[in-house]
Amino acid sequence: MSRPQGGMNTTNLSSNEQPRQSQFKAVIGLEVHCQLNTETKLFCGCPTQFGELPNHNTCPICLGLPGVLPVLNTKAVDFGIRLALAVGARLQPTSVFARKQYFYPDLPKGYQITQYDLPYAVGGGISLSDGKFIALTRIHFEEDAGKNIHGDRVSYVDLNRAGIPLLEIVTEPCIHTPEHAGEYLKRLRSIVRHLEISDGNLDEGSFRCDVNISVQGIHDKELGTRCEIKNLNSFKNIERAIQYEILRQIDLIEDGKKIVQETLLYDPALGRTQAMRSKEEAKDYRYFPDPDLKPLIISPERIERVKTNLAELPEAMANRFSESYQITLLDADQLTHEKELALFFEEVVAKVKKEISPKIVANWILSEYLREHNEKKWDFKKPVITAQNMADLLNLMAEGVISGKIAKMVFNEMVDTQADPSVIVKKKGLVQITDTSIIREAIATILANNSGQVGEYLSGKEKLFGFFVGEIMKVSKGKYNPALVNQILKELLNDQEKTLQAQK
Ligand SMILES: [Zn+2]
Repeated sequence: MSRPQGGMNTTNLSSNEQPRQSQFKAVIGLEVHCQLNTETKLFCGCPTQFGELPNHNTCPICLGLPGVLPVLNTKAVDFGIRLALAVGARLQPTSVFARKQYFYPDLPKGYQITQYDLPYAVGGGISLSDGKFIALTRIHFEEDAGKNIHGDRVSYVDLNRAGIPLLEIVTEPCIHTPEHAGEYLKRLRSIVRHLEISDGNLDEGSFRCDVNISVQGIHDKELGTRCEIKNLNSFKNIERAIQYEILRQIDLIEDGKKIVQETLLYDPALGRTQAMRSKEEAKDYRYFPDPDLKPLIISPERIERVKTNLAELPEAMANRFSESYQITLLDADQLTHEKELALFFEEVVAKVKKEISPKIVANWILSEYLREHNEKKWDFKKPVITAQNMADLLNLMAEGVISGKIAKMVFNEMVDTQADPSVIVKKKGLVQITDTSIIREAIATILANNSGQVGEYLSGKEKLFGFFVGEIMKVSKGKYNPALVNQILKELLNDQEKTLQAQK
């Protein structure tokens, strides 16, 4: 059976894929490599700065020269403890660094230092919005390898990344859908960003994901043969790759073919996975404890110290927002996904007048503000619109200076010019008109010009009220105070009705 390829939205199954898929169950486990944002590497004092000249951030230790000794970065360990506490993992009193031997040009020592049979944390997990719990197997420390850069005729090795501290976060094979995998990864990224232990930047490779995936019949007891998709670097591609791979494996099973255990790469342009290397003979990494590093001992006092300084986590923050600001949990969840956005919301709420409820602030931030943020790819750390300007805009609305409609126009202008909202309102003459004599005169003119519609309205076609409001707003370009327009329009129409009845 063949399947359309290339750019298809694989997360939305076509109607004939759904019954076919319901005969099978996918079993998915995820491994995330999350780069810790320490200033220096895991076992030496080299800076971790991204974007330096190749091999600039290196020293005899991370180059793996003979006779050097690694020294463990204590800040990296504290960061690891933070994550373990945040996801409820059990911190192990003793864990061990091991050497994982393999030969590859980007690995100068011929081995990578990682934790193997004794990781520093086990268990824990993350809850998703529908209640599904994604259980973690383990979290361990690991150093990153370097990077091969392939030119036209020659290849180069850049070792700036060699020795950068990573956490490897491994789930149980308890995920069954691409959507759950995607939500888990977004929540995990949100947590490491709230904890300020990683920037979670997918583009720069500081948050990378490998997917283990197998498919089995829904009644099968035995797990299917699993394949691994390596180095996925966008949430959209991860979900698409998983969906593609589920269908690819179902095709093979249905055709009576064998699934080969292999490592795959996902090609986003083609929308399909491709074999990178066969894993039929499992590699022997000849792990053994690194003789140059003592076992890592994490004392209860150290755990306590990290715990007291732990940042508020996104889930707790969302619950607090929902309760104390009287907004829906869904809105609170969206607001707290990024720490900077959550702080922005709280700052605006603190600065607005009491007529502007937190709910109104939330609506503005989640619609107008986030739309511009996503479209223009703003950086949460460098706000284009300040909390003060956002609050000022909403306050102009509360004071009746501008209407809600005009506020949206002013907001768009703020996006383009970063000017203060009051300056924009003054410069563009957008101040709301509240002079009742002006509004009354304008409405009277409009009613006189539309006597036909007035007649229809008075004979019971009440829907025409909206038509009159529309005409008035057109004439006033949205500047008349909407409440006054409503009130005066009603009065004038009532007057006309009285006149009509008196004539009868
Ligand atoms: Zn170094």
